Amino acid sequence: MSEQCGRGFDGALLSGWLDGALTQADEQRVRIHLEDCDTCRSQVEQMRRFREVIMSTEFAVPPDDQWSERPRGAASRLSLGAGWIIVAVWALALGGYAAWEVWTSDEPLMGKLIVFGGWTGFGLLFLGVLLDRLQAMKTDRYREVEK
Ligand SMILES: [Zn+2]
Repeated sequence: MSEQCGRGFDGALLSGWLDGALTQADEQRVRIHLEDCDTCRSQVEQMRRFREVIMSTEFAVPPDDQWSERPRGAASRLSLGAGWIIVAVWALALGGYAAWEVWTSDEPLMGKLIVFGGWTGFGLLFLGVLLDRLQAMKTDRYREVEK
């Protein structure tokens, strides 16, 4: 693209310009060039838009109304909450039982530790999701109060 517009600086300066991370001299150079170069202006514009998309996906997740599983009414929220609790209890019971089975088995200690390590990882992942979900439900409730 630099061949087309004959700008005398590196393309990286364009993104630096977007960031506001340039030295004053560079900033001026880019600004002056952008004033009379459509090619670079549209390139900067594209970069800006691309960044906006990235930013908005990164920081606005999840937009609540896009959650397909978001409960609509109090009843469904209650059953969803109960469902999660049951799943949690079930997972804990099953995990506890299986843990006991493995721990009391003849498996060598190393094997036990490997199995427990994996379970702990899964357990923490699961717990994270669960807490997220409960948090989301709580915020929902607050939101309803505000209305
Ligand atoms: Zn240019």
